[in-house]
Amino acid sequence: MSFETLGLAPALLRALTEQGYTEPTPIQAAAIPAALEGKDLLAGAQTGTGKTAAFSLPLLDRLYVAQRKPAQPKKPRALVLTPTRELAAQVHESVRAYGKHLGVRATTIFGGVGMQPQVDALRRGVEILVATPGRLIDHIGQRSVDLSGIEVLILDEADRMLDMGFLPAIKRILGHLPRQNRITWLFSATFAPEIKALAGEFMREPVEIQVAKPNSVAATVTHRVHPVDAARKRDLLLHLLESDARQTLVFGRTKHGSDKLAKILEKAGLRSAAIHGNKSQSQRTRALGDFKSGKVNVLVATDIAARGLDIDQLPMVINFDLPMVAEDYVHRIGRTGRAGAEGLAVSLVSREEEGQLRDIRRLLKQDIAIEAVAGFEPTQPLRLDDARATPANSRGRAPTPNHARRPHPGNGGEATPAARKRRRRRGGQRATQPA
Ligand code: AMP
Repeated sequence: MSFETLGLAPALLRALTEQGYTEPTPIQAAAIPAALEGKDLLAGAQTGTGKTAAFSLPLLDRLYVAQRKPAQPKKPRALVLTPTRELAAQVHESVRAYGKHLGVRATTIFGGVGMQPQVDALRRGVEILVATPGRLIDHIGQRSVDLSGIEVLILDEADRMLDMGFLPAIKRILGHLPRQNRITWLFSATFAPEIKALAGEFMREPVEIQVAKPNSVAATVTHRVHPVDAARKRDLLLHLLESDARQTLVFGRTKHGSDKLAKILEKAGLRSAAIHGNKSQSQRTRALGDFKSGKVNVLVATDIAARGLDIDQLPMVINFDLPMVAEDYVHRIGRTGRAGAEGLAVSLVSREEEGQLRDIRRLLKQDIAIEAVAGFEPTQPLRLDDARATPANSRGRAPTPNHARRPHPGNGGEATPAARKRRRRRGGQRATQPA
């Protein structure tokens, strides 16, 4: 199938050719024709499926070709809500790239940066507004934005927005949008009952699209668990990173732990950076840019900060800590094994994390190789009914040099109250899923 057959305008097709896209991804093939017809969409798609283009392309076609209007200086016509500022920035970047031949006026609104430049941009006038819910509420409060002209509302990563506690903000925002003649496209990786309820409240007979099985990961990803004592995780991580020079995204559970980890890696001579919620926007943008350009080889991230990171074809993801909820494992691993490329997902698992590992195996419905790395065998093996810990140095390298073997305290990481709350909430949902 080609983009031409989907019915997109020539100016968009030209931009896609310039981006090097030759054919639509499954979510694009399914969503674009329905979106161009003006239907509401309920689309199940994760990061990495091409979902951003799946909504940006029909949005641009509608606003700038099919229903082109003389510019209304102050009223945006489309609103894209995203959970994080990174995702907002990436959506903005995509909209500009795909719309480069259309004279698109778009801006982003997110927290962590000054209000005034955003107020100025809104005053100058935009048609497409990409925003995180919290900061948009601030602008609504001080009347610097007028949402009464919104024709298309897009909720990107709706499940994550709900997880982050944005439901009341989303409902408030909805109260400021016109009800009539509005089109809504909701994208979400999972469809928990809360998402369905939200959709039922404000969407009109949405077309439902599901491109990949929920909670599935690419078949090209190899999963590997290294059982290890919590106190030796850092040494093992250093060992793995020193014996494999490929670009790696390392996941930590806490902001503090991730920061500390990046500093230790840096000290050991590995070019690394951390990305998490306590970093300023410019620090995050720089870290991501450095990682993408290859200046930084190891990026340490927390789950929330990593959401929506547009990183392609990452060869390796290492879970320094297992996520508190199994679904987050799927989100993390979604960064590797894309588009048929081989990917490796390595998890360092201590005895304390057995329960999380069991949940992940249940969710993936597949076995994960459990291999202790020589020199890092745990003093207490994992107790997983069917797991057999095989002492093997998976990377075929000599044991870790002595300097890297000093025992360290743990990752300083209790989960945050928010994560604990999220786990409780998700725990409730998990009971409804097939084991
Ligand atoms: P997303 O799921 O929107 O985060 O997109 C994942 C990545 O796929 C991004 O880097 C896009 O630039 C890229 N992408 C999206 N659609 C296509 C396509 N049809 N062909 C090739 N790459 C694409």
